Amino acid sequence: MLYRSTRGWKQNVPASFAIKQGIAPDGGLFVPVEMPFFTEDKLKQMCKMDYSQRALEVLKPFLTDFDDQEIKDCISKSYSAIKFGNNPAPLHCLNENVGILELWHGPTCAFKDMALQILPHLLVKSLQKTGEKSETVILVATSGDTGKAALEGFKDVDGTKVIVFYPQDGVSEIQKLQMITQEGSNVWSVGVDGNFDDTQTGVKNIFGDIEFIEHAAKSNVKFSSANSINWGRLVPQIVYYISSYLDMVDKGYIKTGDKINYVVPTGNFGNILAAYYAFKMGLPINRLICASNQNNVLTDFINTGIYDRRRPFAKTISPSMDILISSNLERLLYDVSECNHEYVCNWMNLLKKEGYYDVGTEIKNKIYSIFWSDYSNDQSTIDTIREVYNEYKYVIDTHTAVAVDVYDKYVISTGDVTPTVVVSTASPFKFNKSVAGAILGFEKIADKTEFEILNILSQHCRLSIPKGLLQLDKKPVLHNKRCSKDNMKDIVKEILNI
Ligand SMILES: *Cc1c(COP(=O)(O)O)cnc(C)c1O
Repeated sequence: MLYRSTRGWKQNVPASFAIKQGIAPDGGLFVPVEMPFFTEDKLKQMCKMDYSQRALEVLKPFLTDFDDQEIKDCISKSYSAIKFGNNPAPLHCLNENVGILELWHGPTCAFKDMALQILPHLLVKSLQKTGEKSETVILVATSGDTGKAALEGFKDVDGTKVIVFYPQDGVSEIQKLQMITQEGSNVWSVGVDGNFDDTQTGVKNIFGDIEFIEHAAKSNVKFSSANSINWGRLVPQIVYYISSYLDMVDKGYIKTGDKINYVVPTGNFGNILAAYYAFKMGLPINRLICASNQNNVLTDFINTGIYDRRRPFAKTISPSMDILISSNLERLLYDVSECNHEYVCNWMNLLKKEGYYDVGTEIKNKIYSIFWSDYSNDQSTIDTIREVYNEYKYVIDTHTAVAVDVYDKYVISTGDVTPTVVVSTASPFKFNKSVAGAILGFEKIADKTEFEILNILSQHCRLSIPKGLLQLDKKPVLHNKRCSKDNMKDIVKEILNI
């Protein structure tokens, strides 16, 4: 399988190159030149397999420059029982028609682990295959979830280092503690005196500083990124869509070949794009429901064909979806425009220069034939957490609640009763303030710390606190580096001693 850029770069490259490179040299994103296809028989055969075996079947046709044993090694290092428990992606059925796909059983309690646990292993193999001799240093700017997941994923992985920058006062208490207590000899987290935009701009500036990159290369250091535009982060996400479909069959809710819907709480459009790729691979999908929060730029796009980021940025209680530029949408646009890289270049230029673009009726209708979208505001997200708890005694986090709320709107609007899987992206304990407030009433937790709230939520709902969040306030602080937004490069130099 070869990959090409969405912006027309003239070369096709193997998976190892795409994964090592992250982004294509012309600024585009790597996409497979064709989609593997899974027949109904193939899906039937996969029903009896466990998650790791299913992962091998899905990854194989995409990673043809890796042999089976290499892929198996990557899978077994990533989805082990120590890291994810017995099943990395269990399906919790609310009733015969609706299943919740729990993607937060990994070490950091959010779905980013599903990809960031395996990406480092795919990357190390890719570096070997492409003859890369330099040490790879991953630079990450995070608003919370990605940073911790990258630290955990790259911890003690040979030949790599990771430096995470987070806004000093822009992450939750738990998220900060997760990062400053991180263990591992090749990982650093640094607080930046600035907001998330400053932090992200700082990292982008380092990537764009040719003089500094050449200076680092002399010391055998090559910088790379672990964000969701890397193909190595997207491809592992296809696995859980196919696997959850097979689980619906196994549980007897559907027969192989029956169509189902997926509802995905969406920010950067990476997770739902993996669902679209599963659909292109032959997975019987009726509708992909894209759930946004108040930053509803994607809802407007799917309903009108106009992508317009010229709007105020809202800070919501589902912060991992607070995003106005959904990078992975570029891959969908490339696909629905039948690989027309000129169209894609034009739209991306317009977005950069004018802040919006319009894909026109034909492309809009094509997207609308499979996608449906709406959004949930903070108040209805809170109401949804309470309602789901009262009705099912099941606790969902704020991001998952956005998806459930939008699914309700979908059913009311369309009357569609096709069996549906709602993708759950974070443990309720990770966003415990909003969750406990929704279930117990905000007055009950008004003067409590995040750690007290963990215990209150755990006792009230009779759920154990996930290992990754337990005793976080008792762990030694291992990272105390801070910097201003203007000297992030100096910190990188200091850490790497270059
Ligand atoms: C990152 C994240 C999302 C959004 O996923 P995208 O792939 O960016 O659309 C949703 N929920 C949680 C908890 C996340 O961490």
